[in-house]
Amino acid sequence: MSSRPLILLSNDDGMNAAGLLALASALRRIGELFVVAPEHEQSASSHRITLSGPLRHQELGDNMHAVDGTPADCVYVALHLKGLLPRRPDVVVSGINHGPNLGMDVIYSGTVAAAREASLRGLRAMAISAERGADLAAVAEHGAGLVQRLLSLETPLSAPVLLNVNYPKTPPRGVLATRLGRRDYVDVVEARVDPRGRSYYWIGGPASAHDGAEGVDTTAVDQGYVSVTPLALEMTNAQQLGFAERVAGHEELKES
Ligand code: MN
Repeated sequence: MSSRPLILLSNDDGMNAAGLLALASALRRIGELFVVAPEHEQSASSHRITLSGPLRHQELGDNMHAVDGTPADCVYVALHLKGLLPRRPDVVVSGINHGPNLGMDVIYSGTVAAAREASLRGLRAMAISAERGADLAAVAEHGAGLVQRLLSLETPLSAPVLLNVNYPKTPPRGVLATRLGRRDYVDVVEARVDPRGRSYYWIGGPASAHDGAEGVDTTAVDQGYVSVTPLALEMTNAQQLGFAERVAGHEELKES
């Protein structure tokens, strides 16, 4: 790459999150950085976009922008609002998320969704998350190195590259390419009563132990490695096309 790469950074923990600020300072050393991030925390917002209300935008100086929407909103606005970015970014980074995004977390994660939104537009993207307790400055430094390597490589022509990166809480033993593992949570609904006498529910329990399968992200991070998982956007289950044909049946629809 001849000139400094243009990097767009977002997250789901909000504009003032320590993980975002650490990653921003590391990425500023390797490229021209723009931050467009949610004004407030949006963890587990998945890929929601705001279609039924306004999005307010605050320019904070130093190429930092806060949008009062979701992570996917932020990337959408950054990529499509005329004049916000000087050109199409070379890479879109999301994170550092406070807490890992392993296994099926990628479905719920706003961090991953910000990167996925860029990937849907054909851009290279990387989501970075770290276990709580990780040294964020060290993760940011190492993560910026991975971003640099992603920028230096010729990407496959088949599909955009969307990488989900997770750091262990301890200093990493190495970096492994992985598949998504299995992450189970204790599924609970707590029913309580508020001070006004109305009942409310609080959902979601802690993650339970991982199954320890080989070659997956959960095991890599449990064993102290940085995990790099390539995610696909194509969600067709090609193995079940035959089954779908049976569900579709054989009758021809009559034209009315
Ligand atoms: Mn988060």
